[in-house]
Amino acid sequence: MTESSVPAHRDFVRQIIDEDLKTEKWAGRVHTRFPPEPNGYLHIGHAKSICLNFGIAKEYGGKCNLRFDDTNPEKEEVEYVDSIMDDVRWLGFDWEDRLFYASDYFEQIYQWAEQLIRDDKAYVCSLGLEEIRGGRGSASEPGVDSPYRSRSVEENIDLFRRMRAGEFPDGAHVLRAKIDMAHKHMLMRDPIMYRIRHTEHHRTGHKWCIYPTYDYTHGQSDSIEGITHSICTLEFENHRPLYDWYCDALGIHHPQQIEFNRLNLTYTMMSKRRLLELVQGKHVHGWDDPRIPTLRGLRRRGYTPESIRAFVAYVGVTKNNATMDMCVLENHIREDLNKRAERRMGVLNPLKVVITNYPEDQTEEMDAVNNPEDATAGTRKVPFSRELYIERDDFMEDPPKKFFRLSPGKEVRLRWAYFVTCSNVVKDASGQITEIHCTYDPATKGGDAPDGRKVKATLHWVSAKHALQAEVRLYDHLFVKEDPDEVSDASLDWKSNLNPNSLIVQPAAMLEPSLGLAKTGERFQFERMGYFCVDSDTQGAHMVFNRTVTLKDQWSKEQAKG
Ligand code: ATP
Ligand code: MG
Repeated sequence: MTESSVPAHRDFVRQIIDEDLKTEKWAGRVHTRFPPEPNGYLHIGHAKSICLNFGIAKEYGGKCNLRFDDTNPEKEEVEYVDSIMDDVRWLGFDWEDRLFYASDYFEQIYQWAEQLIRDDKAYVCSLGLEEIRGGRGSASEPGVDSPYRSRSVEENIDLFRRMRAGEFPDGAHVLRAKIDMAHKHMLMRDPIMYRIRHTEHHRTGHKWCIYPTYDYTHGQSDSIEGITHSICTLEFENHRPLYDWYCDALGIHHPQQIEFNRLNLTYTMMSKRRLLELVQGKHVHGWDDPRIPTLRGLRRRGYTPESIRAFVAYVGVTKNNATMDMCVLENHIREDLNKRAERRMGVLNPLKVVITNYPEDQTEEMDAVNNPEDATAGTRKVPFSRELYIERDDFMEDPPKKFFRLSPGKEVRLRWAYFVTCSNVVKDASGQITEIHCTYDPATKGGDAPDGRKVKATLHWVSAKHALQAEVRLYDHLFVKEDPDEVSDASLDWKSNLNPNSLIVQPAAMLEPSLGLAKTGERFQFERMGYFCVDSDTQGAHMVFNRTVTLKDQWSKEQAKG
């Protein structure tokens, strides 16, 4: 499905906004934000959130901020901030002058904490983290009040200011909201607002040694920015009462939180923590490894921003978490590239063919159509000569009945060139086929027989002496199981499901010479073999291509074989 043909479907989020506009709840304003924590690279799940937030702002003539929710100094890095901005732009969205950081609000957030203390709605608790956790109770049992819950306002203000001043080591105290230790939501049982962390922050340096928790920061950051619709994933549904409590207790602008379902895909996973583990454990080659679902990885693999936006629009937003089939994503890039990728011929696993009745020193330039889906793409010349390469799989010495490609005595068409008939098979001492001999019919130039005779197969080929030798990387699913968490025995973890064949390198594929001019990132269809793009490892004459996706999905391939 193309972007323009996506129906302007009113999902439940858009229905809420439509209704708010009708009732003038926000005086006609629509203001969203995309709030990543800079502790990893963005993945295709984030793309869903980006397209939703920025997309809604665009559709309604509203605004969307990019805000880094950078409250955790230990896991955050400038590297992640930069890559996130780059990826959002690559996807096609623009935050204009609205780039924000939660860390820029630290002073305001701190002042609000003092306000809550003065209103007897927060207190300094000197229990250890374990004791605090233990005192929370469970879903069926209420928690117990901290012995520090009844500290006076004066004592709390004094201790909190001294926490800020750096008088205490990590873990000595925390600031907690004074809500209700018997509340039915565990998260409402006097949650922690501030922790002492003598740690440098990637933006505020050593200015702070106390840091607000994500839960105490997120809603207020939205409030400061005047966000109207704070759109987040379903796991935050049970945090909503807490965000509401903070905004109400402080008496500040109170955005409406709307939760939607996360995107999950089969044969891969979206957890930033696990992606980090794959990268750090060198199970993949980096954040832009074409096998992982980071936007970097997908981009390097050859995905276009258009295909990702169309996929995300197709998937839609609901209230139900489900896992989407990977082939749905693959179908979107196929559809996009089918329209715009020029066709070329490339032989991945070469077998030499000698056309014995073709003149030794002759080369002909064959006319090849660049893209049958796009008349403006024109044609190109492809050199043809006596020695060629075809795909090893396209020849069988002893073919089964339904094998219509090349075999002894069979005639096939070479794309854009001639009909050829196999006359001989040459083998080495071990019996391995080294080359095959064919004869061609000069009357079939261009690929049609004047006498109207038909062949059942058309093969791609490359002229041996003109071929561009290149490295081609073929990818398969990252995991062998649809659900990487499915393990047969408890001693194994998700990493045991990594697919050992997720990357297969063909070091010496033979490609049509015109590909020698292709630039990093350029995309092509290699006829019959899939969509490919030039990889950034390309250096001078050593070209590297990634297969983005095969031409058909696995399912149809199995069908065709059967
Ligand atoms: P973490 O586990 O570190 O919190 P996260 O994936 O939630 O990771 P954030 O940086 O907090 O990462 O995400 C930014 C935004 O992207 C959030 O609003 C989050 O809800 C959304 N998001 C993250 N993963 C997905 C997903 N799989 N599908 C849809 N939205 C997602
Ligand atoms: Mg998160």
